Amino acid sequence: MIGRLCIVGVGLIGGSLARALREAGTVKEIVGSSRNAEHLQRAVDLGVIDSFDTDLSEAVRGADMVFVSVPLGAMRNVFALLRDSLEPGAVLTDAGSAKGGVVADVKQVFGKVPAAFVPGHPIAGTENSGVEASFADLYRGRRVILTPLPETDDEALQMVRSMWEAAGAVVSEMEVVHHDEILAATSHLPHMLAFALVESLARMSEQREIFEYAAGGFRDFTRIASSDPVMWRDICLANREALLLVMERFQADMAVLGNAIRDRDETRILQIFQQAKSARDAFAD
Ligand code: NAP
Repeated sequence: MIGRLCIVGVGLIGGSLARALREAGTVKEIVGSSRNAEHLQRAVDLGVIDSFDTDLSEAVRGADMVFVSVPLGAMRNVFALLRDSLEPGAVLTDAGSAKGGVVADVKQVFGKVPAAFVPGHPIAGTENSGVEASFADLYRGRRVILTPLPETDDEALQMVRSMWEAAGAVVSEMEVVHHDEILAATSHLPHMLAFALVESLARMSEQREIFEYAAGGFRDFTRIASSDPVMWRDICLANREALLLVMERFQADMAVLGNAIRDRDETRILQIFQQAKSARDAFAD
């Protein structure tokens, strides 16, 4: 049971956690904070949070648990603003999509990794943003990866684990670097492909006709290109090294496919498609 939870950034991710914990009855009071009072008032009106304070140093006072779910580029400033007001026993955790940068931000602001800091990442989301897009079932049956550090206190880790489990998530642990490599391949690369494809098509002279005749496949493949550009700018810069590696590898694989098409190499084309279909079918199962 969490007495007072402070959520910094009450958007899709923070708002959905608030809704899920409320539904589970595992939190007594939720205070929100972000830059814009109108957004926070909307979260109160929707019943997602109880109250808010745009002054972050006030919002975290008295909180047992502080959950930071702002874009990665805003994390360091948020940590700096809340650092001196955290209660001595408070647990600090976050939802950032790449963990190396968040850990570096925390180290820089606090001078070391505080024992009560538990980095985390829910592997759940949609292409929509803001508190209106949040819903209580977002995390049900979905994975949350925690990336505790050697400095992380076991009790703090257990509290964050229990919070996510109460929200319906399946929690696992991973090292920071490993997390960033895996997510570069499974999440960050697909988003780069979707953004680059749609931007490229939009610039083609037959633009109108292309989108007019686009069907279900195009819609499925490009859904994530509707994701928030600021959030994704921050993610690709925060996970730059790991992302560039998988992008280079993918470019090489695209060249192989291109060559096979150029050479009319039916066997190679079929082999690539069959391997992809088997992998996708196994994943979908
Ligand atoms: P979102 O819906 O846009 O919400 C972000 C929230 O942060 C907004 O409430 C915004 O409120 C606040 N905010 C923005 N800049 C701020 C700043 N400088 N100081 C204080 N508050 C600020 O985004 P989201 O999808 O919830 O993503 C939040 C975090 O979760 C990101 O770090 C992202 O990497 C991670 N994440 C996202 C997904 C996903 O699929 N969306 C999945 C897993 C993890 P104001 O405008 O009122 O400031």
